[in-house]
Amino acid sequence: MIKKILVANRGEIAIRVMRSCREMGIQSVAVFSEADRTSMHVRYADEAYYIGPAPSNESYLVIDNIIDAAKKSAVDAIHPGYGFLSENAEFADCCEKEGILFIGPSAYAMNTMGDKITARRKMQSAGVSVVPGTTDPITDINEAVKTIHEIGLPVMIKASAGGGGKGMRLVTKEEDIVSSVSSAKSEAAASFGNDAVYIEKYINSPHHIEFQILADKHGNCVHLFERECSVQRRHQKVVEETPSPIMTAEVREEMGKQAVAAAKAVNYAGAGTIEFIVDDELNYYFLEMNTRLQVEHPITERVVSVDLVKEQIKIADGEVLQLKQDELRQNGHAIEVRIYAEDPDNNFMPSPGIIKHITEPLGLGVRHDGYVYEGYEIPMFYDPMISKLIVWAPSREEAIERMKRALYAYKITGIKTSIPFLNRIMEVPSFVKGRYNTHIIQDNEKYLKPKKVKSQKLKDVASIAAFVDYLSKLEKQKTSAPVTEQGSNWKECGRKKNLIRL
Ligand code: ADP
Ligand code: ADP
Ligand code: MG
Repeated sequence: MIKKILVANRGEIAIRVMRSCREMGIQSVAVFSEADRTSMHVRYADEAYYIGPAPSNESYLVIDNIIDAAKKSAVDAIHPGYGFLSENAEFADCCEKEGILFIGPSAYAMNTMGDKITARRKMQSAGVSVVPGTTDPITDINEAVKTIHEIGLPVMIKASAGGGGKGMRLVTKEEDIVSSVSSAKSEAAASFGNDAVYIEKYINSPHHIEFQILADKHGNCVHLFERECSVQRRHQKVVEETPSPIMTAEVREEMGKQAVAAAKAVNYAGAGTIEFIVDDELNYYFLEMNTRLQVEHPITERVVSVDLVKEQIKIADGEVLQLKQDELRQNGHAIEVRIYAEDPDNNFMPSPGIIKHITEPLGLGVRHDGYVYEGYEIPMFYDPMISKLIVWAPSREEAIERMKRALYAYKITGIKTSIPFLNRIMEVPSFVKGRYNTHIIQDNEKYLKPKKVKSQKLKDVASIAAFVDYLSKLEKQKTSAPVTEQGSNWKECGRKKNLIRL
C-alpha cells in the first residue's frame, strides 16, 4: 500500500499531484531548490526537503539528490509530474533499484517511446499508422535530399530525442534543406545531447489530436477519448479542448483503438498520451507518445469524470483498472488555457517578478490549477507557466463564454501574463466556429494583435506610474520581511514545526 509519495517537481503540477494524495490519505513530500524556499508546493506538502541550488540541473534534475530525499523521508513512491525527470528512464530505473515505486511506465516503455525514431518503428510493426517519412537518422545529407525529393516538400526535420517543440524545422523550399537539417541537428545536440534527426512529411492543415490512455500492470488498457490541441505557438500548445470540434464518432473509435494498440505494443502501464496529427479529411497519423501526465490532463478529467493522478497512483500500487471502455462517456465540453508569465504584447518576453495582486477566477464550471500568491516572486529559472485555467460547460458555445468570463475575472498585477492574448483567441472567428488547425495563431494576427489604446500618452503615463510603484514595492521587499511572512498563517499551516529540513 502506498502511504507516502515524494513529488519530484515544483509549482502547479506538484500541488495538483499532492491534492490527490491528500484525498487518498497519502502523505506528500515536496522537494525544493534554493529559488523555491517560499514556493506554494513546499507549503502544501506534509514534509519538504532541500535538493540544491536554483538551476534545475543542480536540483530538480539531480537524480541522486531526489533519491536521497526519498530515502530520508521514507516514501513508498515518487511521482515525477511532467517536465524535469518525468520521461527519464534512468531515473525510473534508479527508483526501482532503491525499492521505491516510480509512478509512471517502465524504463523500457519510456526508452522506446522517448526516442521518436524507435517509436515510429515500433508503431509501424504494431499496425499503427505513422506520419510518412524515414525511420533512420540522417547520416548523409545527399541521401537526405534524395529522400526529401521522393517524399515531396514540405517536410519536417525532427529530432529523434525531441520534446517541447525543440529540434524541429519545417522545410518548404529546396534551397533550405541543407541549412534546416544542420540547424535542427545543432539544436537537438544542444537541447538533448543527441543530434539524430529524421524526416517526416509535413501534413497540410494539420490538427493535433491526442488520446489519453490508462493501462494497468495486468494488461488492461482503456482510452479516455481525445483532446484537441491545435492552438499552438511555435509548436507549443496554448489552448486545449475536448471533445475535438472536428471529430466524428467513427474516427474517434478507430483512433481510440489505435491508441490502445500503441500502448499495448510497449506493455505500457500508467497514464499516457498518444499524439496524432490529423488532416482536414480526418486522415490520422501517430506523432509521438508522451509517457507521463500531460499539462492538459484536466480537460479529460472533467469531461470523463476521472482523477488521472489517482488512477496513476492506484496503477503503480498494482491495482486492477476499474474503468471499462464501454462504460466511459464524454460529458459536455472542457477548455484549458495555459497562463504564462510572458508579455504577449512584447514578443512574449519572459516576465519574471513579484506578484503584486492576484484574483483567481471562481464560479460554476471553473477550475484553476496554480501556485502563485501575492508577494511571491516568480523565479526566472523554470518554465514560465504559472497556472492552468480550465472551464467546463454542457456545450462548446457555453464553454467559450465561460472561459471569457473566467479570463475577465482573472487579475494578476506585478508581472505580465498571457491572459490578454488568450482572451483574444476566444474571439478568433475560426476558433469560435471550431474550424481551425495548428496555423490558427499565425493566420489570425489581425485578431490577436493588442487592441489599440485610445491615447498613447495616457498609456505611457499609466505604465510609468505602474513601474514606479513596482520599484518602490521591490525596494520594500528587500528591506523588510517578505510580504508572505507578515501576518500570514501559511507558515503555521503548511510547515509543521521542523519538518522542513534545510
Ligand atoms: P504537453 O505535451 O503536455 O504539452 P510539453 O511537451 O509542452 O507537454 O511539456 C510539458 C512540460 O515539460 C512543459 O512545462 C515543457 O516546458 C516541459 N518540457 C517538455 N519537454 C522539455 C524539454 N525537452 N526541455 C525542457 N522542458 C521540456
Ligand atoms: P514535441 O515532442 O516537441 O511535442 P511533436 O512531434 O509532438 O513534438 O510535434 C509538435 C507539434 O509540431 C505538433 O503538435 C504539430 O503542431 C507540429 N508537427 C510535428 N510534426 C508534424 C508534421 N509531420 N506535420 C505537421 N505538423 C507537425
Ligand atoms: Mg508532442
